[in-house]
Amino acid sequence: MKHIRITLNGIVQGVGFRPFVYKEAIRFKLNGWVTNSSEGVIISVEGIEEDIFSFIDKLLYDAPSLSKIEFFKTIVLDLEGFKIFEIRESSISNKIQTLISPDIATCNECESELNDIENLRRFNLPFNNCTNCGPRYTIINSLPYDRRETAMNKFNMCVECQKEYRDPLDRRFHAEPICCNDCGPKVSLVSIDGQEIESSSNAFIRVKKLILEGNIIAVKGVGGFNIVCNAKDQEAIERLRKVKNRPFKPLAVMFRNLEVLNKYCTITEIEEEIITGNKKPIILIKKIKGMLLESISSNDNVGAILPYSPLHYMLFSEEIDAIIFTSGNAKGIPLNYKNDEALNSLKGIAEYVLFNNRDIIVPIDDSVVKVMHNDRTVIRPGRGYAPYSFRVKVKEDILAMGSELKNTFSLSTNGYVFVSPYNGDMVYEENINHFKYILNHFMKIYNPKIKYVARDARKDGFENSIELSGAKILPVYHHHAHIASCIAEHNIKGAVIGVAYDGIGYGEDGAIWGGEFLICGLRGFKRVAHIDYFKLIGGDKATLNPWRVAYELCTRYIEDENEYDELFSEIPIKDRNLIRTIKKVNINSFDTSSIGRVFDGIAYVLGFNRQVSYEGEAAIYLETMANQSEHVESYRFETIQDNLIKISIKPIIQGIINDLRYGANKGYVARKFHNTVIEFTVDVVMKIAASSNIDKVALSGGVFQNTILRNDIKRKLSEAGLKVFTNNTIPTNDSGISYGQLFIAKEYFNL
Ligand code: ZN
Ligand code: ZN
Ligand code: FE
Repeated sequence: MKHIRITLNGIVQGVGFRPFVYKEAIRFKLNGWVTNSSEGVIISVEGIEEDIFSFIDKLLYDAPSLSKIEFFKTIVLDLEGFKIFEIRESSISNKIQTLISPDIATCNECESELNDIENLRRFNLPFNNCTNCGPRYTIINSLPYDRRETAMNKFNMCVECQKEYRDPLDRRFHAEPICCNDCGPKVSLVSIDGQEIESSSNAFIRVKKLILEGNIIAVKGVGGFNIVCNAKDQEAIERLRKVKNRPFKPLAVMFRNLEVLNKYCTITEIEEEIITGNKKPIILIKKIKGMLLESISSNDNVGAILPYSPLHYMLFSEEIDAIIFTSGNAKGIPLNYKNDEALNSLKGIAEYVLFNNRDIIVPIDDSVVKVMHNDRTVIRPGRGYAPYSFRVKVKEDILAMGSELKNTFSLSTNGYVFVSPYNGDMVYEENINHFKYILNHFMKIYNPKIKYVARDARKDGFENSIELSGAKILPVYHHHAHIASCIAEHNIKGAVIGVAYDGIGYGEDGAIWGGEFLICGLRGFKRVAHIDYFKLIGGDKATLNPWRVAYELCTRYIEDENEYDELFSEIPIKDRNLIRTIKKVNINSFDTSSIGRVFDGIAYVLGFNRQVSYEGEAAIYLETMANQSEHVESYRFETIQDNLIKISIKPIIQGIINDLRYGANKGYVARKFHNTVIEFTVDVVMKIAASSNIDKVALSGGVFQNTILRNDIKRKLSEAGLKVFTNNTIPTNDSGISYGQLFIAKEYFNL
């Protein structure tokens, strides 16, 4: 007989860990106890040594799927002669070690209960959940995670639910949002003028009918309201685009199930694993040509998602294969999530609203994920993924405020680094308020003492409106943060050659950077190469209107106007002249090395002749076009060796205009341009590697969401013998900036 004390830490609370321990202890005939404490889960077991070993083996290798053991320790103690095995009440001290879990998609067992007509308590229960699934982050007020501190507090558990909640052998032991058809939250269907139409299960019957009749319906889900309509109804989709002021941005589609999804899209094994897993994000996958309406997405991909809460399963019937599933907000501003504000703010968008009375305490968007070259990459960190928590020791608490666009913030405290969900663009008052709300929420829960703040090096900006008195502030350059996010994600030691490709970031010399090669560590960076400067004329206007970039590139690099004039024939002469004048007087025009803008300009000459209606639109247009061609040719490029290397795109622009004049196919030109970017990137990296003796490369920045570029640059550099790193869990776009900033501050202040 032996008495062994086991301490476990990590994600082990609120995920069915204690009942699992209980069941296994009983199975191996061990006596003792298990409890939650400030150090994690503590287990004391007495029994035959072999049985204890088998038990430990189970704990380590067979733990519940949502748990993650990050720390494990055993000690041998004197025998105490326990008579039973029991779950002891937790003795959580004020030093809270528990983490807020992200929200978890409905598990298979809960899903099958929805259809089990014999199970009256859970049949068609829109809020069904268990310890393995259900809402977490969105309903938690404060820690420790306990029903009293959640949005479920106002619903009294019925006697049956109480029994399950207290039974260590039940799947719902301490499932805090536990409920049934007798005691759970209720839904009601309301027309946009406030009339209740149906409630309970009748509401779903009616909603399905309304969907089939072509209506637009707002549905309150896990993290906020979504707008849905029939994905096969062209007229409804057009109306939805109009009322949401979303003319072109692809719409996400929720499919009834995987089998149905397979009729419309091709999905790889890894993608299938993600879309059916416990996070259930929107995943960008290949459409099967001609199966989905063109008005859903004009590129090769579609954002596909499967039902992730019981309520979503209940929106479907045999007649409804797929619904448009988009967020219930006006363009750019945060998600609607409050019942009392919804009718007002959804007026003009939805025709009906499916409400429920479970409050959302913290709103969250759906996550967006893309698989590239078998790599899982998070594009928008939201439900299921965020908030992230990583076990990292940092001596003092740091807040990293993130980027202006696609913001997240990161926070280190108490042995962890947390990354917030996506907060949107910090250019609207509403989003800045949202940032403050979420930051406050994190402060309330984790109670950090912020001594250090990392923020973007740009002096103006939303950060100035966030009050943090007494903290030391570290300004961090945008592209340094991008590369640092990759260094920190993969825990790379020593210097790397960082390639940061994106749209816009403030640089050391005051120019707008975006095509950068840095020799870089967490502590600092040295810019060693960049795309040669051209002008961004009219600042934001140039970002919105790709023709302005195209015009600048043509006038800058091509002497004879006649060669390109026709490409701009639809642009009024006075607008073109204005560009020339602004450039001459050098007002409101900025030096830029942004490769993102180069993509925009080239998209224009290849036919993208409208305003950009969402970030990355022109670049996606170009990538889609390039996918139509498999040509391997490329344009000539020049590198100018100064005190640093400058990549001149002059021969590229000349080559493109020349090809077009001789009637080259646009797909061919787009592909050839992609090939050129790949070539000069590899060329410059190899030059830097040779002169610096560095063999590690980190690729980061929003442009690496482009599958062609990412895959080929990675492959070619790897083939040349370099070790290449890219972002996966931490977004490669600006949502990853805060993570990089935090690690730069940790290194800088020696924390
Ligand atoms: Zn479940
Ligand atoms: Zn109940
Ligand atoms: Fe960026």
